[in-house]
Amino acid sequence: MHQSPPASRPTTLERWLTGTRIGGLPTRGAGHAPPALSFEFMPPKTETMETQLWQCIHRLAPLKPRFVSVTYGAGGSTQARTHATVSRIVTETSLTPAAHLTCVGASRGEIDDIARRYWDAGVRHIVALRGDVPGGGAYVPHPEGYAYAADMVAGLARVAPFEISVAAYPEIHPAAVNPLADLENLKRKLDAGATRAITNYFFETETYLRFLDLCLAAGITASIVPGILPVTNFAQAQKFSALSGVALPEWLGHMFDGTDEDPEIRRMVAAVVAAEQVRLLQANGIDEFHFYTLNRPELTYAIAHILGVRPQPARS
Ligand SMILES: Cc1cc2nc3c(=O)[nH]c(=O)nc-3n(C[C@H](O)[C@H](O)[C@H](O)COP(=O)(O)OP(=O)(O)OC[C@H]3O[C@@H](n4cnc5c(N)ncnc54)[C@H](O)[C@@H]3O)c2cc1C
Repeated sequence: MHQSPPASRPTTLERWLTGTRIGGLPTRGAGHAPPALSFEFMPPKTETMETQLWQCIHRLAPLKPRFVSVTYGAGGSTQARTHATVSRIVTETSLTPAAHLTCVGASRGEIDDIARRYWDAGVRHIVALRGDVPGGGAYVPHPEGYAYAADMVAGLARVAPFEISVAAYPEIHPAAVNPLADLENLKRKLDAGATRAITNYFFETETYLRFLDLCLAAGITASIVPGILPVTNFAQAQKFSALSGVALPEWLGHMFDGTDEDPEIRRMVAAVVAAEQVRLLQANGIDEFHFYTLNRPELTYAIAHILGVRPQPARS
């Protein structure tokens, strides 16, 4: 006997006619200019890591990022290596480097000297940060130092007319007194002379978009560039996120569940997760992205490709 489907379950046709539609991938022809990209690298600790970093730089360079930044180890521990990496980028590539610099453990005079050396080496862009205490203790400003990033931004502007980027936290900096104080701090950094903020990474698109709303409401009009961390190693992301106050959504864990022993599948899942994140941001009008590459190019390259960015011929 013929049975009609239960009332609670729509038929295939009903589902087809009334179900949610998910938009297709953005394409260059559909009114999307390729976004502006920047890439973050870490200074290498060993020769092997140096080789890996330079393979990464050479792989990503043809995508013509507007700048590439090089991090500064906790407590300034990589000062020489950051400087060497940034200087080599200046002399051996046509990329525009940005050197990260932190306030921790240095006097204002020392920071200003480092900045002056960067300027003399042809570096015009600094990512100005407070930094953290190595080992994770409570932050105490150096007695003769810049206490917070906003103070360093003002100091750097006195050294030379640097382009300055600062950090922003869509999920609030863990040490902030409250969300409003953190937002006011971001505004202070921009008012002191920074031209853009780069966000800590996040996984919920809505978290970032709501943060943009709050920034606009606070009178911030500078670019708040989303920092994208393409996750390939979920356990590592869990560790980072616990330290930096980033929420790790349940769905993300679920995505990587059962892929520990299957690196090929894990890479495919990672690519889909990261592509979906940038695609959603792009669909919401975001046209600049900063990638935490962790000195590994493949996933960043693939996502850039999906966003419509293609290799450009080398500048002569
Ligand atoms: C894009 C990006 C890149 C980074 N790169 C590096 C790196 O290369 N090396 C590194 O060591 N770390 C790096 N970090 C981490 C960063 O150093 C830490 O998150 C650090 O804890 C805060 O740095 P900040 O520049 O945001 O600090 P700040 O903007 O100074 O803020 C730090 C905290 O102090 C609060 N605050 C600010 N001013 C005051 C005040 N006057 N009184 C009381 N509280 C105040 C703020 O609300 C916030 O909670 C990076 C972070 C991001 C997002």
